[in-house]
Amino acid sequence: MKPAPFDYYRPATVEDALAALGTSETAKVLAGGQSLIPAMNFRLSQPDLLVDIGGVEGFDRLEVGPSGVMIGASVTQSRVMASDEVANTVPGLRRALHHVAHLQIRNRGTICGSIAHADPAAELPALAIACGATLFLQGPAGERTVDAGDFFLGPFWTELGEGELITGVHFPSEPADTVTFLDELAWRSGDFAITGLAGALATRGGSVSGARMVSFGVSGAPRRMTGAEQAVLGFSAGDDGSAVYGAAYDDGADAVDDVHATAEYRREALGALAVRSVRAALATNGNGTGV
Ligand SMILES: Cc1cc2nc3c(=O)[nH]c(=O)nc-3n(C[C@H](O)[C@H](O)[C@H](O)COP(=O)(O)OP(=O)(O)OC[C@H]3O[C@@H](n4cnc5c(N)ncnc54)[C@H](O)[C@@H]3O)c2cc1C
Repeated sequence: MKPAPFDYYRPATVEDALAALGTSETAKVLAGGQSLIPAMNFRLSQPDLLVDIGGVEGFDRLEVGPSGVMIGASVTQSRVMASDEVANTVPGLRRALHHVAHLQIRNRGTICGSIAHADPAAELPALAIACGATLFLQGPAGERTVDAGDFFLGPFWTELGEGELITGVHFPSEPADTVTFLDELAWRSGDFAITGLAGALATRGGSVSGARMVSFGVSGAPRRMTGAEQAVLGFSAGDDGSAVYGAAYDDGADAVDDVHATAEYRREALGALAVRSVRAALATNGNGTGV
């Protein structure tokens, strides 16, 4: 399949990018193109103008500081995954990226593009919520920030307004007592998840003292698992996990049926993943490879 005809523009500044996006109702941002171009080839998306943000000044910044990691809009998934500095500051990013597609796709695909695309089965939106990330947006009305937890509204639907783009995302440093994890069930390595779970667990004295858990691939958008977050408090290595399983199963109440799996299968998988990943998080060696 070939895409419908379109114009292409590669601006050098964010102002030029926004001006170009404002010239057409169907104009689209082109980042890595790993989701947009296949959608155009299938004619699911027919923009008349692509605004390639790969050359926008400042969008290639990848900054690691005491408060966390700032990732500009054109930074690829591979670049983030390769950085030991990033892995030491936000270990969950490298852990999650191991599950995202394949090397060739990660070499082009961007962190911000995956977040903007908001595929309900994608890993990075769920991780962003679990980590408490902040999105930096810029559009015709100016700049604003949005918590990742408020950004995802439904399948491929976000808080992004008309002509607005993500300029960067900030992931806060992982606190010393916290382990961030991501686990999923997929038919093959690199496939989108049938059911997945991202989380951040705080531990004290060998048991869980705080939790943020987010499902993905289960319903129309990544969702906080408020029942499991309560049930996991006090969990330690010897627990049988039945309470966490039951609460996670209940958190999947709006699971969808589709060609990949039934809703019931997804709920059971979410329960099993919750127990497995909490156990693994408690046992992690804390060097970025344990979960
Ligand atoms: C075979 C294959 C397997 C894959 N497997 C997985 C997987 O397992 N897990 C997973 O999460 N992803 C997977 N992906 C998708 C991949 O991660 C993409 O790279 C990612 O979803 C989109 O990033 P991108 O930079 O390529 O964005 P693009 O494809 O360029 O853009 C995607 C959408 O987001 C918009 N957009 C992009 N950047 C911005 C921005 N800064 N501001 C506003 N809007 C923006 C675009 O307009 C477009 O609508 C897979 C892709 C392929 C082809």
